[in-house]
Amino acid sequence: DWGAATGARTVLLPYPRSFCAGVERAIDIVERVLAHRGAPVYVRKQIVHNSHVVARLEGLGAVFVDELDEVPSGATVVFSAHGVSPAVRKEAAHRGLAVVDATCPLVAKVHSEARRFADRGDTVLFIGHDGHEETEGTVGERPGSTVLVEDLAGAARVRVPDTNRVSYLVQTTLGVDEVAEIVDVLHERFPALQGPASDDICYATTNRQQALRSVARKADLVLVVGSRNSSNANRLVELARRLGTPAHLVDDPGGIDLAWLTDAATVAVTAGASTPASLVDATVDALRGLGPVDVREHVVTTEEIEFTLPKEVRNP
Ligand code: SF4
Repeated sequence: DWGAATGARTVLLPYPRSFCAGVERAIDIVERVLAHRGAPVYVRKQIVHNSHVVARLEGLGAVFVDELDEVPSGATVVFSAHGVSPAVRKEAAHRGLAVVDATCPLVAKVHSEARRFADRGDTVLFIGHDGHEETEGTVGERPGSTVLVEDLAGAARVRVPDTNRVSYLVQTTLGVDEVAEIVDVLHERFPALQGPASDDICYATTNRQQALRSVARKADLVLVVGSRNSSNANRLVELARRLGTPAHLVDDPGGIDLAWLTDAATVAVTAGASTPASLVDATVDALRGLGPVDVREHVVTTEEIEFTLPKEVRNP
């Protein structure tokens, strides 16, 4: 029913939202490899978890594959922002592939902690989602010493061989609140539990959640622009719902169900770290198509962080 969805409304735009430094760097790497070496350029897994980004890079000549056996010998392959396990690096070397690594430096930081903790004799409890590429990569650093903890129930039941040698690490894109609850349970069960020196949940994930937190309760509806498989975008939907506001994930404005907009005089629009800002603009434009909108930015912080590029794609 179009009628019920039309009318004047307020649109709240929490900031930060959309691309983080790790995503910008990963996309830049693929574009640079395409420019320097020409198409096709193979990319293992989606470079970042966004269907629009992937489709645009495919248009430029990137070929996304699930596993390295789909890459011809001697070709160049880019590893995605989510990181890979040592087994994948080894296979690439064995196949003679030219690797350009787009792993986000903040994911790489968690990998190095996994090695360090496991190598000092700890059982490493990795708080993350099963099946996510980042989990596969990080757990793959020391699979024999790492145990996946997915949620509170997992924290309550996990067993370790030596309760004096146990540490935890966290997937970079989880919910800050849920992880704090899980770590509390682990601390209670394992008083000697050690953690990372600085948070594993990255600045971008934290900031996007913090920004949404500042507006979610003021909104009748939260729209999170992002793809189904984007971990941090899904966490934003969960956060809004935890705060009591109906929330939906949409890949682009075409995913909006007009029924959601009935009686939604105030709509907050945000986006995961892998979502281009243009899709937020398009979403606001779609709302504008239903009636006048008063757009209000809510800036909670700014982000200055930038990562250096891998040497293979730096300008000479
Ligand atoms: Fe890196 Fe965080 Fe962005 Fe992931 S969300 S690419 S860890 S900055």
